[in-house]
Amino acid sequence: MRKYLIAGNWKMKMTRDTSVALVNKLLDELEPSENVEVAVCPPAVYLHDVGAALRGSHIGLGGQNMHAAPEGAFTGEISSGMLKDIGCQYVILGHSERRQYFVETDADVNEKLKVALSVGLIPIVCVGETLEQRESGSTAEVIAEQIRGSLSGLDAADGAKIVVAYEPVWAIGTGKTATPEQAEEVHAQIRGLLRELFGAETAATIRIQYGGSVKPDNASELLGQPNIDGALVGGASLKADGFAAIIAAAK
Ligand code: PEP
Repeated sequence: MRKYLIAGNWKMKMTRDTSVALVNKLLDELEPSENVEVAVCPPAVYLHDVGAALRGSHIGLGGQNMHAAPEGAFTGEISSGMLKDIGCQYVILGHSERRQYFVETDADVNEKLKVALSVGLIPIVCVGETLEQRESGSTAEVIAEQIRGSLSGLDAADGAKIVVAYEPVWAIGTGKTATPEQAEEVHAQIRGLLRELFGAETAATIRIQYGGSVKPDNASELLGQPNIDGALVGGASLKADGFAAIIAAAK
């Protein structure tokens, strides 16, 4: 039985005060749940304060990105060890904004993924097609290439530790959501690819989140699909009430 994972990706938004106020409100509103895990991924500079507010609670903490090197002369970058050190359990890897604006490739994601696993972080590996790719009928091909490339060289034991997020690029921050059927079709395809890579038993345990304009009013239908095991939420995770409503839909 897979436990839902609802994670908030705050991107480059919020201030120190609003970050701490948001998680304090979430802590007030949310009870720990048997079937739903919750995490927030604040900007790196707020990880300390948000982590302090969340310490000992049922809400997890994640980074939005990391560098693959353990340390070194990489001005402006953050290592996997630093994320662990500050209290993160998760790290988002290969978000489409990283792929688009920072030219991250599947090979980069794969390298970071292995490093993240080696320090005990749970990687949330993002994949998704652009509108052009969907309209040209190449969604399945694009997803297969991203999954195979990003997860290359992992054995089943490592495969079991990851989370995959399917985020159609055309649905991120646009207000356009994939229909539950469109999302489920790709999630089922991803499950099949995970089966090929790691075997049926492991593939059945890996959580596949959906991301792309998830909101309280579309969350239930999306999360009701057989292969949708949670949500990676951008805009709607910035307000406690909206994020809590998405979590309630998962429950
Ligand atoms: C995201 O950034 O991962 C995302 C899904 O954003 P939004 O929910 O705002 O579309």
